[in-house]
Amino acid sequence: MSLTATSPSRDLSNTVRYALHGRVAVIFLDNPPVNGLGDTVRRGIHEGLALAQSDAAVDAIVIAGAGKAFCGGADIRQFNTPAATAKPMLRDVIAAIEASGKPVVAAIHGFALGGGLELALGCHYRVAQAGSRLALPEVNLGLVPGGGGTQRLPRLIGVMPALDMIHTGKPLDAGAALAAGLVDAIAEGDLLAFALPYALERAAQGSHPVASRRALNADGVDFAATRARLNPKARNAIAQRAAIDCVEAATRLPIEPGLDEERRLFDALVEGDASKALRHLFFAEKEAPRVSGGGRAGQIGRVGILGAGTMGGGIAMAFANAGYPVTLYERDQAALDRGVALIRKNYEITAAKGKLDAAGVEARMARIAPSLDVQDLGQADLVIEAVFEDMAVKQAVFRQLDAVCKAGAILATNTSRLNIDEIAACTVRPEAVIGLHFFSPANVMKLLEVVRGAGTGADVIATCMAVAQKIGKIPVLVGVCEGFVGNRMLTGYWREAGFLLEEGASPQQIDGALTRFGMAMGPLAMADLAGMDINWATRKRLAPTRPAHLRYSKVADRICELGRFGQKTQAGYYRYEPGSRQPLPDPVVDGIIEDCAREAGIVRRPVSDEEIVERCMLALVNEGALIIEEGIAQRASDVDVVYVHGYGFPGARGGPMFHAQTLGLAATLEKIRALRHEHGEHWKPAPLLERLVEQGATAF
Ligand code: NAD
Repeated sequence: MSLTATSPSRDLSNTVRYALHGRVAVIFLDNPPVNGLGDTVRRGIHEGLALAQSDAAVDAIVIAGAGKAFCGGADIRQFNTPAATAKPMLRDVIAAIEASGKPVVAAIHGFALGGGLELALGCHYRVAQAGSRLALPEVNLGLVPGGGGTQRLPRLIGVMPALDMIHTGKPLDAGAALAAGLVDAIAEGDLLAFALPYALERAAQGSHPVASRRALNADGVDFAATRARLNPKARNAIAQRAAIDCVEAATRLPIEPGLDEERRLFDALVEGDASKALRHLFFAEKEAPRVSGGGRAGQIGRVGILGAGTMGGGIAMAFANAGYPVTLYERDQAALDRGVALIRKNYEITAAKGKLDAAGVEARMARIAPSLDVQDLGQADLVIEAVFEDMAVKQAVFRQLDAVCKAGAILATNTSRLNIDEIAACTVRPEAVIGLHFFSPANVMKLLEVVRGAGTGADVIATCMAVAQKIGKIPVLVGVCEGFVGNRMLTGYWREAGFLLEEGASPQQIDGALTRFGMAMGPLAMADLAGMDINWATRKRLAPTRPAHLRYSKVADRICELGRFGQKTQAGYYRYEPGSRQPLPDPVVDGIIEDCAREAGIVRRPVSDEEIVERCMLALVNEGALIIEEGIAQRASDVDVVYVHGYGFPGARGGPMFHAQTLGLAATLEKIRALRHEHGEHWKPAPLLERLVEQGATAF
C-alpha cells in the first residue's frame, strides 16, 4: 500500500512510521514480512498514539500496515524470550487506544491475523479492503489469543460466531466480516483514500464505540456441547479447549478479569510442550520446500502417469484436483478400467460427503485422459511412474520413457525404496530423473519426499519442489539410500516392535502404547494396513546385507509364511472380519510370538508401556540423527515434517527429532547408551548425537 504523506513521515521505532495526512495521524506498521507485533512495533504504536493525542492539529488516527498485509499477529520468533513480554504489551497498547478521545480506525488490507486482529478489535472502527482475511488462528499453534481477542470478539459479533472463529481458527473474508459486524466498512479502491475521510467523519461524531464496553449476550450458548464436539486426537486439542474456556470466561467476567483469565491460559500454553512443538512445525513446514543449489523452477503443463493402481490413481487425482491435465497410462484395458473406475468412485464418495459437487467431479474426471498407448506420454512435461516395486520392471519402464518423452521432460519414479541412480542409469538423461515419493492415499497425504539422485539437475529439483506445492503437498528433499528418510527410519521402529513382542508384549499392547503416545496408528496395525508382503520382500532383498551376529526377530517372516499379509488377506499381526478394518487379537499370532521367543532363548517378561514407547521412539531418533549426519535430509526439521505428515506422528510432539530435544539431547543419548548396554549393537548411538551432547547443544 502506498503512503503519500502531507507531512514527512518519521520513524517512531525501526518498525513503525508516523505521518500526518491533513488532520489525520497515520501509524504505519512496517516490520516485514507481515508486520509482526514484536516489542519495537508495540512501542512504536504506543508512542504514535501518545503523539497524536497531544497534537491539537490531529482529529483522528488510522493504524495501517505496510507491505502485503495489515498485520500477521504476534512475532512468534520472540515467544519464550524477554522481548515477548517487554512493555508495552499489546494489552497496554489497546488500553491506550480505548482511552483515546480521538477515534482510532484500523485500516486492514491483506490480512489481520491473531494479534493483528486483536489490535484491530481494540480500535474504535475497522475498515477492510475487499478480499482481505481476518482470523484468530492461534489454536493452530497450540495457543489462544493473548491480547484480548477472546474477550472483545464475543462482545462485538456475538458469542456463538466468536466461539466458532476462535476455537477453529478459521478466517472470515472482508464480506463475511462486514455481515458479522466485525468490520464497519469495506474499501473497494485505495484503502487509505477511503480510511482517511472515514476517520474524519467519525471524529465529527464525538463519542466512539469500544468493543470491551459492549454488553454481551450469552443466552442459548452451549459451551458443553461445543466441548463435546472437539476431536480429542486433534494436534491442538488442548488449545481448542482453552479457547472455549476463554470465551466462556468472557460471558462470566467483567472485561479486566476476563483479560487476566485469557492471559493466564495463554501463558500456560505458551510455556507448554505442545505449543512449542506446533510452533516448531509451523517453521519446519515453511522451511521444508527451500533447497540450496540454485535451480530455477520450470513450468509444468501436462502430467503423465504410468500405472493406474493404488498410487497412480491417487497421484492422478492430486494433479487433476489442482487443475493439471493428466495422461494416465496402463498396460492393459482391464487395469486401466479398474483404475479409472476407482478414481470416479473416490470422487463420488467426496461428493456424497458434500465436499464436491457433480460438476466438480466431472471437471476432474475430464482432466484425466486414460491411455493404453505409451506414445501419449510423449508431450508430458512431468511423467511419474507408479508401476510394481521391482527394479527390472522400473528400469524397463524408464527405457521406454527415455525413448518416448520429449526433451526437457522430467522422469520421476514413485518408488518407496529402490535406488534412483540405478533407475537413472538406464536412461541417456540422468539429469531428468528424480524420485517423487507420494504417500498413500496420494490425493490426501500432504507429504512428498523428493528424492535427489546423484545426477538429478538443480532445475529439475526446483521444478518438482514448486509443482509439489501447487498440488498442496509439503515437499521434503531427500537423498538416495534404502528407504530414503521415512521408510528407512521405520526399519528400526519395526525392529524394536518385533523384539518387544518376543520379550513379552502383545501386538495390542504395543499398538495401544504408541497410539496413547499420540501416533495415528501403532506400528503393527500400520504394517497390516500397508501390506506385510511389501516389508517381507524388502527383508528378503536385504537379507544378504544383514550382519549374522545381530539379533533378528523372525515373527514377521513367520506370519507372512502363512500367507497372512495384513488387511488385504484379513490376517496379519491381527485378524479381520470380512469387510472390517478393526484389528482383532489372534491366538495364532500369539503362538508364533511364543515360538520365536523360545527358539531365540528369550524368557518372556512383563513389558511396560513406557519401555515400548521409549524403544520405538529412540529407534526413530537414532536413525534420524544418522540420516541428518549423512546429508540424506537437509535439516533435522525436515525429518520431523516427514514423520508428522507421512507417518502419523503426533504434531503436538513436533516430530521425532523435536521430541528428542524435548526429552533433552543428553538424556536421549544416555538412554540410547543404556539400551546398547542391555540390547547390543543395534543401539550404537549416532555420532552426531554424541558430538552434539559433547558440545552442550540442545537442538539438532
Ligand atoms: P499397484 O499394484 O496398486 O499398482 C501398480 C500398477 O502398475 C498396476 O495397475 C499395474 O497394472 C501397473 N503396471 C505394471 N507394470 C506396468 C507397465 N509396465 N506399464 C504400465 N503400467 C504398469 O501398486 P501401488 O501400490 O500403486 O505401488 C506402485 C508404486 O508406488 C510402487 O513402486 C510402490 O513401491 C510405490 N508406493 C506404494 C505405496 C503404497 O502405499 N501402496 C506408497 C508409496 C509408494
